[in-house]
Amino acid sequence: MFNTSTIFPEAKGGYLQFVDWKQHAEWLDHGFVLRETNDWPDIRRVAILRQMHSDIVVRVDDQKGFSGEGDAMITDKRGVYLTVRTADCVPILIADPVRRAVAAVHAGWRGAAAEIAVKTVRRMQQEYGCNIADLEVLIGPGIGKCCYEVGPEVAARFARWFPLYDGITEKVRMDVAEASRRQLADIGVHKLHGGVFCAACDRYRFHSVRRDGSRAGRNLSCIALKSEPVSEDELHRAWAAALEYGR
Ligand SMILES: [Zn+2]
Repeated sequence: MFNTSTIFPEAKGGYLQFVDWKQHAEWLDHGFVLRETNDWPDIRRVAILRQMHSDIVVRVDDQKGFSGEGDAMITDKRGVYLTVRTADCVPILIADPVRRAVAAVHAGWRGAAAEIAVKTVRRMQQEYGCNIADLEVLIGPGIGKCCYEVGPEVAARFARWFPLYDGITEKVRMDVAEASRRQLADIGVHKLHGGVFCAACDRYRFHSVRRDGSRAGRNLSCIALKSEPVSEDELHRAWAAALEYGR
């Protein structure tokens, strides 16, 4: 059901991109910024939330910069870079190639337990008329099952998606990305990709709080609808009109 076979190649610019989304390159931009890089998106076009491990989804229209509190953003506006900061939590990017809308989701265990990815999809349906079957989902680098031990009280909250955790009394290694994936599959999202990284294992590319402690840096994930390309002719016409303005 899940396509995890298409791995992101490492782009020259110091971030990871999803090869399948190259077919959308005309209108879609996205990436997972690697830790040792200076190739960051233009900060003036970036929308940032005060993340709280909540299930709050924020619609971003024009405002860039600090866009409020919450853990997921959606937009159908061009040139707005939706971002997620993580250091073990799982970043999820969503694109609708038909309605031309995008989303960025911060899904750690608390967000996943509250089904934030599903709530983001529901909001895209409400706001933009997205159809579930059109949505393409990309799960970025979070902590892997290999490194993510949780107590039974956390695991038990995922029993709906991992029946083995029902009534559990011991610690387990949990795949938090898989929880979001199962939730999305349950509502009919089937173009699900990624989720193959472990931020804690891959110290050369990703930050991880579990590995480096509370002073760890943050991994940045972003997605945007590209700005309308402007032709030379249009620029010349615009300048000609501007220079004549009020003369
Ligand atoms: Zn690991």
